[in-house]
Amino acid sequence: MDTPRPTERRSDLTVDLVVVANRLPIRRVQPEEDGPHEWIVSPGGLVSAMAPVLADRNRFAWVGWPGDADGPTEPFTHDGMRLIPVSLSAEEYECHYEGMSNGTLWPLYHDKIEPAEFHRHWYDGYRRVNRRFADLVAETAAENATVWVHDYQLQLVPGYLRAQRPDLTIGFFLHIPFPPSELFRQIPWRNELTTGLLGADLVGFQTPEGASNFARLAESLDLATIDGETLNRNGRTIHVRSFPIGIDVDRYSTGADRPEITERAAAVRERLGNPKAVLLGVDRLDYTKGIDVRLRAFKELLAEEKFLPGEVILIQVAEPSRDNVDAYVALKERVQGLVGEINGDFARVGVPPVHYIHQSRDFDELMSLYRSADVMMVTPFRDGMNLVAKEYVATRHDDTGVLVLSEFAGAAHELDGALIVNPYDIDGVKAALVRAVQMTDEEARPRMAAMREKVERNHASRWAESFLSDLRDIGGQSPVGPRKRSATV
Ligand code: UDP
Repeated sequence: MDTPRPTERRSDLTVDLVVVANRLPIRRVQPEEDGPHEWIVSPGGLVSAMAPVLADRNRFAWVGWPGDADGPTEPFTHDGMRLIPVSLSAEEYECHYEGMSNGTLWPLYHDKIEPAEFHRHWYDGYRRVNRRFADLVAETAAENATVWVHDYQLQLVPGYLRAQRPDLTIGFFLHIPFPPSELFRQIPWRNELTTGLLGADLVGFQTPEGASNFARLAESLDLATIDGETLNRNGRTIHVRSFPIGIDVDRYSTGADRPEITERAAAVRERLGNPKAVLLGVDRLDYTKGIDVRLRAFKELLAEEKFLPGEVILIQVAEPSRDNVDAYVALKERVQGLVGEINGDFARVGVPPVHYIHQSRDFDELMSLYRSADVMMVTPFRDGMNLVAKEYVATRHDDTGVLVLSEFAGAAHELDGALIVNPYDIDGVKAALVRAVQMTDEEARPRMAAMREKVERNHASRWAESFLSDLRDIGGQSPVGPRKRSATV
């Protein structure tokens, strides 16, 4: 990392693209035990999706929280990227991130699978943090710059920015689902949050359903009127569209196509006793993911002897997540209880039917698991997209393998070669798992080939390029010219 240096004066600013996300695209690592800490660019995720649009590194900046209380506090450059850290106090982290973002908005936007809590002091913190992000962007962006704000933690930023810097072209993309207006209207601060989003020129969602939920909400709250594919608010046009996110296909496709991964995948199957079928789940341990659903289905199939112990093996990677939150602790206990019951009831010595890995797996390990699995189980109750589904598909070079996919994952809109299930219908999930295990390669191959083609076509950089090009077109299209646009939110 280069030495942090103070922010330039506004008149000197050359930054014509500002990316705003809750986290900076870096994380702290300790390569050697007891060795010094280093900051590295987070692999995968948003940063690789954004790579092509960030190619001109001199002209863009990324505003976000460094993810660490001891992280940098002054703007700095890393790997050629200009990074602007947003500092948060412990109390702000608690109210903004753990509270309002993950205790209110996350469950509410995911169909209230768990109850959403509403606390005024959480919202207060959310407001303060959003204001700080907006202020930093306003200080950083050059005249007429383009700003791309990401995700549910920062929904007030577009509105705050519009009021301060009407010259900017502002885009917002929501990575998680947007709920039906009946649910959203429960939020005590619904008008302020909606107005915040309406500060953008372009609001993007993972699915057409999310886009139409938002448009209907804005109209039902009398905050805008729907005009075809756009909203109108006080004479200003807000474009509302879906942009389904893709993955960095090359990273997964090439990553899984190495001889050492092929060997590791074979070794996994060998260690499992070369079963007839390996079923795989890879998720954050989150209540939205439906991990318990697939375990229950698997348990019943063993009890009914539709699957025989040793013949069908289930591997579940459950990456630890938010484990200081009550609902996540309860889920962990529920999942561990189910795994214990299944293995207690059906294991033979040396052959447990479920291999449960409550740890984060690194890239190579994930690649070998994807390559070793005959059936990938993705059964969320609600999910913005679900990248794991796309990653599995990208690694199946020989077009074998079957994806069992919830209709409530954004990915189901594209991956129609999957066996689509309703995760609330346990008999339906069971039937799909049996069908997946019995499916012949002749039937599986065209399905997988069609899905691979779709995943390859809609790769992550194409997603980023298409959002930004729409946003820039919108900025350039303004009839009065970008600098004179209204500051009204
Ligand atoms: N992942 C990982 N290690 C793990 C489990 C998951 O690197 O042990 C990655 C996975 O490859 C995927 C991401 O975490 O890229 C999860 O994204 P997804 O959209 O499926 O779910 P999210 O966690 O964002 O809700």
